Amino acid sequence: MTGSASTDASNGPRIAVLSEVVRNQIAAGEVIERPASVLRELLDNAVDAGSSRITVDLEEGGMRLVRVSDDGIGMGPADLELAFQAHATSKLRTPEDLDHIASLGFRGEALASMASVARCRILSRPRGSEMGAEITEEGGRRGAVTPAGAPEGTVVEVRDLFYNTPARRRFLKREQTELARCMDIVQRVALAHPADESGAGGIGFTVNHGGRRAFDVEPGMDLAARVRRTFGGELADTLEPVEGDNGSARIFGFVAPPRFARRDTRRQMWFLNGRPLKDKVLTRVLKDAYRGVLVHGLQPVAFLHLWLDPETVDVNVHPAKTEVRLRDERSLFGFLVHTIRESVMRTDMATPGESMLDSLRRREGRGEQRETLPDPGPMRGQSAIQSAWIPRGGAPSAPWGSAPTPPVAEDGGDGFVVQDIAPSGGAAPAGSGAASPGEEAGWHEVDDLRGPYLQVAKTYLVRALPDGFEIIDQHALHERLTFEELRREVGEGKVEIQRLLTPELVELGRADLALVAEHSEALRRIGIEVEPFGETTAAVHGIPARIKRPDPEAIVRDVVAVIARTGKAPDAEDVLEEVLHRASCRSSIMAGDRLDQSSIRALLERARAAGTDQTCPHARPTRVKFTLADLEKAFHRT
Ligand code: ADP
Ligand code: MG
Repeated sequence: MTGSASTDASNGPRIAVLSEVVRNQIAAGEVIERPASVLRELLDNAVDAGSSRITVDLEEGGMRLVRVSDDGIGMGPADLELAFQAHATSKLRTPEDLDHIASLGFRGEALASMASVARCRILSRPRGSEMGAEITEEGGRRGAVTPAGAPEGTVVEVRDLFYNTPARRRFLKREQTELARCMDIVQRVALAHPADESGAGGIGFTVNHGGRRAFDVEPGMDLAARVRRTFGGELADTLEPVEGDNGSARIFGFVAPPRFARRDTRRQMWFLNGRPLKDKVLTRVLKDAYRGVLVHGLQPVAFLHLWLDPETVDVNVHPAKTEVRLRDERSLFGFLVHTIRESVMRTDMATPGESMLDSLRRREGRGEQRETLPDPGPMRGQSAIQSAWIPRGGAPSAPWGSAPTPPVAEDGGDGFVVQDIAPSGGAAPAGSGAASPGEEAGWHEVDDLRGPYLQVAKTYLVRALPDGFEIIDQHALHERLTFEELRREVGEGKVEIQRLLTPELVELGRADLALVAEHSEALRRIGIEVEPFGETTAAVHGIPARIKRPDPEAIVRDVVAVIARTGKAPDAEDVLEEVLHRASCRSSIMAGDRLDQSSIRALLERARAAGTDQTCPHARPTRVKFTLADLEKAFHRT
């Protein structure tokens, strides 16, 4: 039984202290995974150095070269001497310093790690100094510091990442993938350092890949301008600001309407004290803030800066520094959800028809060949607010400009309606149809919800608007209203209960019955009166009066299922939401119900009173709006 490790025991100890380069390579394993992690560390250093302009040059997705040049404080020869040394840092001196770290780096590990797995060079000239200097390190071989011409600031080059560790190099992906990760990092850092309202304090970023400009933001750009530059106007135009301060935490930023939500969290950006971070708690904050308006499984889009006293944050958790640990999580959580939710509810939740028309056009392959039509005169002026419905046969029922009003079809919506609903307030929106928010608010106030409405397939309601038309899904809208009204009643503690003449008996089994018994008080608060009736059966005596097509058994089963799954009380907020969703869905007008003109109008009046009426509680749209601009595009009038 001779282990190979002990064969040469006589020659000396088996244990040896690792060489510095091996130690650094091990550390690099934690910090440096790919070009994007190199970039992140270099950007952190440039930011910590107080730079106002930072330039990034990449070759081959950063695998060949990552170079970061800054105009920060720079390093003198003595600093350069130590820069590649492990645990050499200017940002931390004493153990107490760990409690109030304000800089991005502090471990003094990054440069040493990089130098162990790549060919590195630093060129630097301290601000106000006459001369610059440089130092190189390659695979643990450190060169001497030599004088060199350099602009004020620092240039750090990291070439041929993992050239000496082929096993790790193999984990790198295609150039485009690595580049995308690098871009993600720069964009996050760029969004982390916007200018303030006065245009001061921002950092400018420029990225070149293979010598070509890939991205840039000016130092003077604020957060909104940076989001626009990074993600485009379509998103930027819809963002709703978020602002709040509770004395110990401050939040500022933007949230996007729920329809921008996506499967990944890449457009969910949190910044804590100026540092981009991903954090499970903050992801949950957003989920809660969008509760009820987001399709399940999608992640909202938001850009949020959070400022906390550094003493309440522990950044020392993970070497990659994307995670932090927050103290006093609970009260912070409530404050954040509340503040963000207010803004989410202000976002424009209308579902634009425009995108559908766009995809229609793309499918038809006409995207490029726009015909130039003569100025569509009538569409531009007052008569632009007239809409013509064309019977299925195809021929227009009336020439443009005149507005006879045939009776509304009584056959469930196969007829046609021509109407003129110039708002009584007078002002017609601009012919472009893209009414400014102010104008929209204007006509909304004078909109008397006057019909006629067209019901299509007993499911969709069509209504002309001064600046276009909207299609409403009657079931989705009604569901949303029942839900909102129920939620309000529960919130105010006065749910009206509708008592059943004879209690409905529901066979539940012992375990579920025990849940019902345990939570009967909380169930009553949400309008459900239910009590055990025998060993395995529950008797339902009352349900919320709002629920129009009561199916007490289904409601109780739903509730029990949710309580059992979540282990929470029925009036816990998320349980309540789910229960109310289901209840309102069950009780709603169904697709397929015939609605007459006055009940449609009543429905829309309730919707207006409720406010939140653009999506059903499952976040499917309740309304899709087509503007005149959309129509003009669809008919090639632009
Ligand atoms: P850390 O950032 O954790 O201190 P690094 O290895 O990233 O560790 O950097 C080591 C030190 O080198 C820093 O503390 C800083 O003093 C100096 N340094 C690195 N990059 C720059 C830069 N771009 N400008 C000025 N000093 C820098
Ligand atoms: Mg650093």
